[in-house]
Amino acid sequence: MRILITGGSGFIGSHLCERFIAEGHELVCVDNLITGTLANIAPFQSHPQFRFIKHDISSALEISGPLDYVLHFASPASPNDYLRYPIQTLKVGSLGTLNALGIAKAKGACFLLASTSEVYGDPLVHPQPESYWGHVNPVGPRGVYDEAKRFAEALTMAYYREHGVNTRIIRVFNTFGPRMRLNDGRAVPTFIAQALKGEPLTVYGDGTQTRSFCYIDDLVEGIRRVMESDLHDPVNLGNPDERSILEIAQKVMAYLSGTTSRIEFRPLPVDDPKQRRPDLTLARRQLGWEPKVSLDEGLALTIAWFREQANHPRLAAEITKG
Ligand code: UDP
Repeated sequence: MRILITGGSGFIGSHLCERFIAEGHELVCVDNLITGTLANIAPFQSHPQFRFIKHDISSALEISGPLDYVLHFASPASPNDYLRYPIQTLKVGSLGTLNALGIAKAKGACFLLASTSEVYGDPLVHPQPESYWGHVNPVGPRGVYDEAKRFAEALTMAYYREHGVNTRIIRVFNTFGPRMRLNDGRAVPTFIAQALKGEPLTVYGDGTQTRSFCYIDDLVEGIRRVMESDLHDPVNLGNPDERSILEIAQKVMAYLSGTTSRIEFRPLPVDDPKQRRPDLTLARRQLGWEPKVSLDEGLALTIAWFREQANHPRLAAEITKG
């Protein structure tokens, strides 16, 4: 297959690239590198089946040759990143999705949108099934991401209904693993970075808010199955093992037992969702998929990777800078 992936140098995108290269497919990776890094694709950048194009998909792009899939993963995705790049986030969710859908339509390719559990906002239904319409503040700071992705879903469904483009939508819940940026601001890499530096672990609010963390390899397998399915409606992908954020911080500290860190409570960000857990009934039934890697296994693998990277000059600098 020949696959175009936007955001291919990001955390999830680069893991997908790795999987497709291993499967023998040809990849065109498009990324403007505002939050992705070339280091993420360095292991396969010189592979003959891999091509990198530095481009912002919010502007039109012409791709020569046929395509079987267009996977749209480009977007700042951590709260820190989308608060820093609010306009770019709105543009890539709207214009970027439009351009990516246009490429899929022109090539007769299957299109997959990486949407998010953020479309559920601060949910009033728990756990969240795909049928829940969400509870989003459109004008709050997180609105730039939440509404961009909600618009992207609407646009994707319009291309499916109006133009007959063969589309898929995944709603990705919190995911973690190697290749996250230590300074991307998300809970898991932030706590690991702080513990590695011996600094306090910054828990926002009282830490009772919950999330359910999925290890990256499980997510990649779920995405692979959605690609091969004929599901046009959104599908939740994530891990249902729900934990409080305080517990996550305590676990990271327990793993890095040599650390001198302690927990420091900070104000809860505006509109921070109080709870989040995917209802995976649809994915289980339709894809025969569910996550296999436990939180403890995933944390051990991720911490080992970050420790190894700490010896690497680029990441060592990132750790020091914070
Ligand atoms: N969080 C925290 N300390 C941090 C970073 C995040 O307590 O240094 C909390 C954040 O307020 C949220 C949860 O951890 O309740 C998950 O945040 P993250 O940024 O990882 O993702 P989100 O699910 O909010 O998009």
